Amino acid sequence: MADITLQGNPCHTNGELPAVGAALPAFSLVDGELNNRTLDDYAGKRKLISIVPSLDTGVCAKSTKVFNEAMAALTAADIPIIVVTNQSAVARGLMTPETLADMHRRLDRIVTSNGGRIQAILHCPHHPDDRCGCRKPQPGMIFKARTRYDLDLKETIMIGDRASDIACGRAAGCGVTILVRSGPQDARPKLAGLGIWPDGIVADLAAAVQTILGPQDAPP
Ligand SMILES: [Zn+2]
Repeated sequence: MADITLQGNPCHTNGELPAVGAALPAFSLVDGELNNRTLDDYAGKRKLISIVPSLDTGVCAKSTKVFNEAMAALTAADIPIIVVTNQSAVARGLMTPETLADMHRRLDRIVTSNGGRIQAILHCPHHPDDRCGCRKPQPGMIFKARTRYDLDLKETIMIGDRASDIACGRAAGCGVTILVRSGPQDARPKLAGLGIWPDGIVADLAAAVQTILGPQDAPP
């Protein structure tokens, strides 16, 4: 543990900082183009260590736990889960289709190992300029899911943290749309501008699941 000062406030790191003159420990990270990088990639270059509070802390751990528990609760209630996701990083050349497939496999594994089951992950790989029919807020991915899994969209609930998710659910004719407020931005001003209002606005995915399933009894 090292004592440091952050924005004038004394605090400490979980681990030790390298001593002045010591060799930097090996690390791996993901760069701005989503490639894996190691210390060797920066050989001979000056490195600046930036310490960011909240990464790998309770905030991240809690949101992962909420997500996994929500997936498990819906699965236990026999509600099929289909993920629809915009991934224009593919069209932008920032991510290969293989990397995306690998990320989706990893997500599936994590959810499965926590008692949940994702029926399918559908993605739109296109650039916004492509004007495809599947990039949210367009309803193409939901229509694809309807065809593939014989969904009754009136019985389908769209949950999302962005205005485009809610607009997509509405455009597809989903019976219920729920906005979760745990996303990076407040979607409500944009939705107000679009003249669209979700059927429910809740704090996070756990609250959305509670809205769908009703209050759950604590396990015995
Ligand atoms: Zn698309």
